[in-house]
Amino acid sequence: MNMNMVFLGPPGAGKGTYAKELVRILEIPHISTGDMFREAVASGSELGKKVEEILKKGDLVPDDLTISIVKERLSHEDCKKGFILDGFPRTVDQAKALDEILTSLGRELGYAVYFEVSEDIVVKRITNRRICKKCGKIYNLITLPPKIDGKCDICGGELYQREDDREEVVRNRYKVYMNNTYPVIEYYQKQNKLFTIDGASGVDSVIKEVLNIIRR
Ligand code: AMP
Repeated sequence: MNMNMVFLGPPGAGKGTYAKELVRILEIPHISTGDMFREAVASGSELGKKVEEILKKGDLVPDDLTISIVKERLSHEDCKKGFILDGFPRTVDQAKALDEILTSLGRELGYAVYFEVSEDIVVKRITNRRICKKCGKIYNLITLPPKIDGKCDICGGELYQREDDREEVVRNRYKVYMNNTYPVIEYYQKQNKLFTIDGASGVDSVIKEVLNIIRR
């Protein structure tokens, strides 16, 4: 069973939500380049200073920087059993680099799971997205509101909105996605590794579908 996976799809396709649930079941790490960059910004590190403005605008961090943090992360012991890469690769060059990294580790990508969602749904989902500061649980004010306004159901932490989840930035992120990341889907199709899932079909059904792909 190969559990080396990448999750593809526009911002707001639900990649993070689905990945969080699946890594709990499969006991493999969830590697989100977006989370890694946001943590770098919050900590004020050198990397954080380099990427802060790029993230604010919703543009892409340069490939060399992004590839090097992924390469480092994939070399950790906990990735041996498998991993879910969420938000990487976002360019064809990153996809090629990932193949090289895995080959150098004597491994191979199992699947690229593509969550298909329309732009309208994406914008609606992202602008209503709220995240717990403490445990990272993702809410949606319309489809998955917290029981108490502004507070996490699980840990009571404060909910916040990502700075790049405002509508103007979301529209730019979607444009960047169509220009740079959409071609990555074709890249994996050619390798016969692409599985397409309707990203709007609800968490339980999506999780079942991904598990079916792995356990085929
Ligand atoms: P995400 O949380 O995946 O939506 O990522 C948030 C932001 O981090 C993106 O809008 C980009 O600015 C940056 N980012 C995350 N992953 C990548 C990547 N693979 N390549 C370039 N930039 C990225």
